[in-house]
Amino acid sequence: MLGLMQNQPLLISMLLDFAERHHGDAEIVSRRVEGDIHRYTYKDLAARAKQVANALDALGLQGGDRVASLAWNGYRHMELYFGVPGSGRVLHTLNPRLHPDQMVWIINHAEDKVVCFDMTFLPLVQATHAKCPTVKTWVALCDADKLPADSGIPGLQSYEAWIGAQKADYAWPQFDENTAAAMCYTSGTTGNPKGALYSHRSVVLHAYGGALPDAMGISARDAILPVVPMFHVNAWGLPYVAALTGAKVVYPGPAMDGKSIYELMEAEKVTFAAGVPTIWQMLLTHMQSNGLKFSSLNRTVIGGSACPPAMIDTFRDEFGVDVLHAWGMTETSPLGTVGTLKNKHLKLPKEQQLAIRLKQGRAVFGVDMKIVGDDGKDQPWDGKAYGDLLVRGPWIMDTYFKGQCPLIKDEQGRGWFPTGDVATIDADGFMQITDRSKDVIKSGGEWISSIDIENVAMAHPAVAMAACIGMPHPKWDERPIVAVVKKPGADVTREDLLKFYEGKIAKWQIPDDVVFVEAIPLGATGKMLKTKLREDLKGYKLPGL
Ligand code: AMP
Repeated sequence: MLGLMQNQPLLISMLLDFAERHHGDAEIVSRRVEGDIHRYTYKDLAARAKQVANALDALGLQGGDRVASLAWNGYRHMELYFGVPGSGRVLHTLNPRLHPDQMVWIINHAEDKVVCFDMTFLPLVQATHAKCPTVKTWVALCDADKLPADSGIPGLQSYEAWIGAQKADYAWPQFDENTAAAMCYTSGTTGNPKGALYSHRSVVLHAYGGALPDAMGISARDAILPVVPMFHVNAWGLPYVAALTGAKVVYPGPAMDGKSIYELMEAEKVTFAAGVPTIWQMLLTHMQSNGLKFSSLNRTVIGGSACPPAMIDTFRDEFGVDVLHAWGMTETSPLGTVGTLKNKHLKLPKEQQLAIRLKQGRAVFGVDMKIVGDDGKDQPWDGKAYGDLLVRGPWIMDTYFKGQCPLIKDEQGRGWFPTGDVATIDADGFMQITDRSKDVIKSGGEWISSIDIENVAMAHPAVAMAACIGMPHPKWDERPIVAVVKKPGADVTREDLLKFYEGKIAKWQIPDDVVFVEAIPLGATGKMLKTKLREDLKGYKLPGL
């Protein structure tokens, strides 16, 4: 027997309709590529998203056609976030930090029909557009008078002229909630990138889950600043969470340096921010060297790579800001776990609390997870046993776009997505990543967590960044070494750092060597590229070998 409730599909247009109707005057503030600050409301956003939808209709685009964006975080990008899927097309967010050849590969693989780009990326588009035969329409996200006279890009038009010619009313179509809505390719650090294709249902449910108090805890009383880019996993779903809650949104545009972010946070009374550790490091350094404090920020979600303990401490002790450590991936929309404490943790001494906050957190409702050993059998949730992390749920990917289904079937026939991460889970359900499976260091049959080793180095006041990799060893198979970037003007020796490890981790886990480097290679999403680091250190020999 079926229930007798209304069967309304979960569509992205619902989020926008809700925000317009119930939070029509809530603000969306953006630092523009042009450098100035732009502000308008959800009501304005809705009107312009409808113009986008009409403009796509006018191009004759079919349902499911891909419309790509190559843009910073800002209001025009947000209009595409709603106008493109709302009208039945698929928004494909392109990562401008990828190598141009890789970007071209992705555009061709996705068969994008339209590309909307910020003027920052004009040279990139000029260099690549001829290699993208499926793209029929190029749109520059700018005013008509900012369009260069001769860009060399056939038919290039300005976004303002393009949508300006359209009406601001539009009846959002109703369709199956499993219809494709958005797409994002993985960074492809090994092999070609792979496309995750999100559905309306997965996006809306992810927004519900992300807004929960024990997830990102967003409400209409917040002013949120997504520093995490809209070109990477939908800025962790925050533009959709914002519409679902009516929160004020503040977008940093291209200005991601510590000073610009700090000034924007203060001017707009931001209460919540989200980003990867490298961005927050720049912000904290700026604030510490200028003796600054926050007047409104009270919490920040940090994820994308492991958040060093020193960062959690600094945010809390020096700036009164709670860090929520979170884990996710392109294939998981991305939210998987968030490190919000349980009631029983609140009374714990600071050190013990920090140990819990350092973990990547517990599953958001909707995400089921488990860890399995090499034999595929479940590992216990005791905080010690580690295994490959598998996840399942309504916003976890099933199959790659034009690609394989990587799911692993359990005894009941349910599919689990293998994350490629190695983790522990404790009795309270807090998951902790110890490594990417390909980065795990195996020494004398025991596993060493490269994240643990990096965290210790990062806690040293002279260290700006640290990356740990395994080096071949005839007796132990592999031994860890740590590559370190010093803070400007700081002085620290190899011996100082090795001594710093004593008492902090087991003796046999202490790295065999410290190698000072100018920079750690970073990938297009700001994560450390250990494959590249290994290449850079080709020919390196462990001491004593
Ligand atoms: P991406 O799909 O590019 O977002 O990368 C996802 C991967 O980033 C995950 O599989 C993890 O290896 C890593 N990652 C994400 N969040 C964290 C975190 N909080 N701590 C450690 N690694 C993380």
